[in-house]
Amino acid sequence: MARLYDSRKRILVTGGGGFLGSHLCDRLLGKGHEILCLDNLFTGTKRNIEHLHAEPRFEFLRHDVTFPLYVEVDEIYNLACPASPVHYQHDPVQTTKTSVHGAINMLGLAKRLKCPILQASTSEVYGDPSVHPQTEDYWGNVNPIGMRACYDEGKRCAETLFFDYHRQHGLEIKVVRIFNTYGPRMHPSDGRVVSNFIMQALRREPITIYGNGQQTRSFCYVDDLIEGMIRMMESSPDFVGPVNIGNPNAFTITELAEQVVAQCGSASGLRYLPLPVDDPKQRQPDISLARSKLGWEPEIQLRDGLAKTIEYFRKVVQ
Ligand code: NAD
Ligand code: UDP
Repeated sequence: MARLYDSRKRILVTGGGGFLGSHLCDRLLGKGHEILCLDNLFTGTKRNIEHLHAEPRFEFLRHDVTFPLYVEVDEIYNLACPASPVHYQHDPVQTTKTSVHGAINMLGLAKRLKCPILQASTSEVYGDPSVHPQTEDYWGNVNPIGMRACYDEGKRCAETLFFDYHRQHGLEIKVVRIFNTYGPRMHPSDGRVVSNFIMQALRREPITIYGNGQQTRSFCYVDDLIEGMIRMMESSPDFVGPVNIGNPNAFTITELAEQVVAQCGSASGLRYLPLPVDDPKQRQPDISLARSKLGWEPEIQLRDGLAKTIEYFRKVVQ
């Protein structure tokens, strides 16, 4: 039976100052809950949440999840972790610590409070996948010693910890595997493909395509993603996941570049650069499980999501 949301909850959102976390705070506040937004502001920024400071049900706590935390809440969303390859490779040891020590600390907190906890996992657990589209029962193809391993293996270990706390301590866990998501409040210089391409197009700079541009990604608009995440938290306690959340429409990176240039009305040309090591060739979620268990599927298609994101970035560029 779905948990009832007929009363106000105190909800901890780790990584709440980041791109996804700040949108999650907005939506949970809109549902009438109290939010404790935790962030060390490594990649997040106070700008993402400054519109919430006058809200009495919102509280910001500057804290690093690799250290223990003692607070009283009813529910935890664990999002703290840099997500862009440029950022998570900046200090790879800290990235692994954030995923692993962060998971241990937040799971320990959830165990003491006997409260549900949701983990923001990632399609990166599938690595450079040989199964396509990716289903949740695929174990992945991850290089354990490569440049992306700090993130991929950190997130895989976090999933292991979540499932062991569930089996060993009976903790109510929820694991979502997020596929490439974009939208307003992405950091303009975080190096991810959508923000890079939009910033380059608006500045009339060349669009940097890594490799031959034939690698594919599936892009989910942030509002769809947050809806899926909240539905997962609100789903029956016996559905723990992992569940893929993403938009199944796949595009090549060259197609994305052309779409962004056209929608920005830009004159930018394409510039081909070397492909980063271990860059996955294809990625597309199979969302059958999310459809059947959560009644969820994305509603916002790339053209519409890009229009909203470009509008946001135009303000950032000025
Ligand atoms: P983001 O970098 O904007 O947000 C991450 C937030 O975590 C930032 O505010 C950052 O300051 C904070 N943080 C990092 N290390 C921390 C630490 N040690 N203690 C406390 N806070 C810390 O990235 P995002 O895109 O919003 O991603 C949020 C979560 O979703 C991440 O866990 C990421 O792995 C996951 N995810 C995102 C995507 C995507 O496409 N956006 C895809 C897969 C998974
Ligand atoms: N990419 C690109 N140009 C850029 C940034 C990224 O061609 O300026 C490519 C990158 O090599 C990858 C895809 O776009 O194949 C998605 O990259 P991103 O860093 O957004 O996320 P990933 O899915 O690789 O984690």
